[in-house]
Amino acid sequence: MPQPEGSTPAETLAAAFGARDGELAVGGVPLSALTERHGTPLYVYDAARMRASYRALAEAVAGFAGIYYSIKANPNPAVARVFVGEGAGIEIASAAEYLAARAAGAAPERILFAGPGKRPDELAHVIEHGIGEIHLECVEEIARVAAIGAALGRTVPVALRINPSAAAQGGAMRMGGKPSPFGFDEEETEAVIDAVAAQPALRLTGIHLFAGTQILDADVLAGQWLHGLRLALRAARHLGRPLETIDLGGGLGIPYFSGETALDLARLKQRVAELMTFVRAEPLIREAQVVIEPGRFLVGPAGLYAAQVLASKRSRGTRFLVLDGGMHHHLAASGNLGQVIKRDYPIVAARPGGRETAPCTVVGPLCTPLDTLARQAALPDCQAGELIAILQSGAYGLTASPVGFLSHPTPAEVLVDGGSVTEIRPRGRFEAPLGVPDIGG
Ligand SMILES: *Cc1c(COP(=O)(O)O)cnc(C)c1O
Repeated sequence: MPQPEGSTPAETLAAAFGARDGELAVGGVPLSALTERHGTPLYVYDAARMRASYRALAEAVAGFAGIYYSIKANPNPAVARVFVGEGAGIEIASAAEYLAARAAGAAPERILFAGPGKRPDELAHVIEHGIGEIHLECVEEIARVAAIGAALGRTVPVALRINPSAAAQGGAMRMGGKPSPFGFDEEETEAVIDAVAAQPALRLTGIHLFAGTQILDADVLAGQWLHGLRLALRAARHLGRPLETIDLGGGLGIPYFSGETALDLARLKQRVAELMTFVRAEPLIREAQVVIEPGRFLVGPAGLYAAQVLASKRSRGTRFLVLDGGMHHHLAASGNLGQVIKRDYPIVAARPGGRETAPCTVVGPLCTPLDTLARQAALPDCQAGELIAILQSGAYGLTASPVGFLSHPTPAEVLVDGGSVTEIRPRGRFEAPLGVPDIGG
């Protein structure tokens, strides 16, 4: 595969965290100081880097859109709290995420609830305790939400999630233009608006569109957003009144693999200026609150997964590093979380020490060849006990992984904020079936 200029090698990404005495450091704290205290494997998040991502994006979309943090990317309330502190709302996809958002300090009216299968008890909980907007995704939900609203004597603010007819090009996963379980097909927009308008317990506030994820091209993203604005206009025309909200979705990408470059926020800002011109010319959407709901972009670069080398071995000419952490904590790094082509996440030795690097295969402790964390890593000749860090791991890490497989303990999570370290999830035991004792540790 050709490697365009400006690729992002692992060392550059590691340098963004900083170093101390030749060792990778987060917020000025050496990685080994964190793992000595909190054990390995370990997830480490840097609050300053989260704020930096948030502020850079907020600046690029200033005057155009507000930001809602998509909490499924990393649902730890301490992580979400960093974004709430910056002024973000929260996008949730379950009642448990609602509780996490509340624990993070989000006001109920700053929470949006999306997702293709919301249970009646989840809907009842958020309607009872307050919710900014529920995104309707199927006809059953129209009736379900209306019935709960009527029973509780509430008018529920709802938006329609629309599955766009045109695919966003350039994202790793495409969620538009083809059959989808998410939302209503764009072709049905008018009919669904009529169905919602017929329910007195529902107030149709806006539309929601989310066409693709891991988009690194600002023009692709802006094109998708323009499509969303046009769709909002079409919905408002049919509705015969202005929309209150337009949710353009998440999907902003971050570079993981060699050859990928970061989203160009300066370019995005230029394109946003054009979008603002479009919006201002249309009275039916001019007053609407435009929202974007990124997850990965805000938290991905701020996190790393640290693990310890248990063995360094050779098999028929290939060098293997066996770590104490693997795909049961970090499925995405193993390439098994929806990736079509398995490519290596950026991975570094915590103490490179100026050693020569050579290709090696990095595996976890699970008894399956799926537990491969890197196939062509460029790492020094690491020895047992050394620390390895997988970068770009703040999003879709621990909670997107099969933590029960092989019944290892779950790793702790720590948040570093300006030199102060908080354990935000203790190292834990995967809940064993009844009758199995705990070895501790
Ligand atoms: C997952 C999700 C997001 C966040 O996606 P990213 O690719 O992490 O930005 C946003 N909105 C909805 C509805 C989602 O399901």
